[in-house]
Amino acid sequence: MINKLTEWGRALADVFMPRLCPVCGKALVADEPYICRGCLAALPRTHLEEVDFNTMEQLFAGKVPIERATGYFYYQKSSPYAQILYDIKYRNRPQMGRWLAARAAGELRNSGFFDDIEVIVPVPLHPSKLAERGYNQSDYLARGLSQALGIPVIDALKSTRAHGSQTRRSATDRWLNAQHTYALRQAKASQIENKHILLVDDVVTTGATLEACTHALLTAPGTQVTLFTLATARLD
Ligand SMILES: [Zn+2]
Repeated sequence: MINKLTEWGRALADVFMPRLCPVCGKALVADEPYICRGCLAALPRTHLEEVDFNTMEQLFAGKVPIERATGYFYYQKSSPYAQILYDIKYRNRPQMGRWLAARAAGELRNSGFFDDIEVIVPVPLHPSKLAERGYNQSDYLARGLSQALGIPVIDALKSTRAHGSQTRRSATDRWLNAQHTYALRQAKASQIENKHILLVDDVVTTGATLEACTHALLTAPGTQVTLFTLATARLD
């Protein structure tokens, strides 16, 4: 009954205030919660999880030990699919991220990518940024994965100092800047010890953030880290 009412409500709301697909801009129909069917079908999936020592894993080789890494779809600034990431991060639509992450989990499950993962840890946001934005998009992604996979989320990391806009820095500067920015929450350390952790972020470009976070997680004894991002730049 509740579901029927929700469907009705959504259909009615769609007439007065159409929800739009962030990729193509067309109005969504009732059974398209966030992205239209056509754009979802054409999502530029990476399928990196099917490739041994894929380009994302190569990005971290020799820098920090990881078990596996994949991103769900390819991100390019010029692509209309970049709008999904923008909306999730800056336009107060983190629920779309949660939904898409759950969908990704369902699609990737059979590849074995999530086998033996025991806890999910989101990349944290500095408290000042969290206050400004009101939410951490990676936390929503982690919850979407958790819901689909039945694996708990542990908020094991903290961002220890704010960094300004990184867009004009060189890759080396960004790496150095990010290096000291993440730390393990000591109160949560016992919950990730000896566990295989899935570290989650929205997008990977230089890999500096994920690298710094992985270093922080590996300070807890016996941990292993696998990386999942909603999107990845083309790294080859
Ligand atoms: Zn669309």
